[in-house]
Amino acid sequence: MMNTVKLHDKEFGVFISRDEIAKAVEKVAAQINHDYANKTPLFVAVLNGSFMFASDLMKQIHIDSEITFVKLASYSGTSTTGKVSELIGFNESIEGREVIILEDIVDTGITLEILVKLLQEKKANSVAIATCLFKPKAYTKSHALEYVGIEVGNEFLVGYGLDYNGRGRNLADIYKIIE
Ligand code: 5GP
Ligand code: MG
Repeated sequence: MMNTVKLHDKEFGVFISRDEIAKAVEKVAAQINHDYANKTPLFVAVLNGSFMFASDLMKQIHIDSEITFVKLASYSGTSTTGKVSELIGFNESIEGREVIILEDIVDTGITLEILVKLLQEKKANSVAIATCLFKPKAYTKSHALEYVGIEVGNEFLVGYGLDYNGRGRNLADIYKIIE
């Protein structure tokens, strides 16, 4: 019997188990501990979705580091460019810092590109990306993703921070819709 859960009107089944997630997080942490051994990176976790990944990952980061949390608010501007994006809750000085963005999932990469641009404008010395999940078939950007936990297809996922209309962020495994 597949482990299932109902969120709003839809049924979801376990797709990536908590053990697989733990292994992926361990792999990413080991890579970062190695690559940043003599640095003091500033982790920037993107809320809401990345809270579980950030929490589990940080417990396995053993180098000197700092973490902060941001939200990316998008709203339609009146200019011809349309969308305007703003970082909320960002008080740290990032000039000269080695920044590592923590994401729950990278899909098209649009969100990420905005964030990378904002961090570069704030004069980060380097900006790397660590994401729990990555949808390579949906990715439209050229920025390399330095640390990827698990590559997935284009299916809609919930759990481990990811929501379906607000529900399911608390689930310890990652689920997908049962068609
Ligand atoms: P992107 O800008 O890369 O297209 O989208 C990134 C954001 O879209 C993620 O941070 C997440 O909020 C949302 N997203 C993308 N794929 C999924 C998915 O499979 N499930 C859920 N719940 N959210 C997703
Ligand atoms: Mg996100």
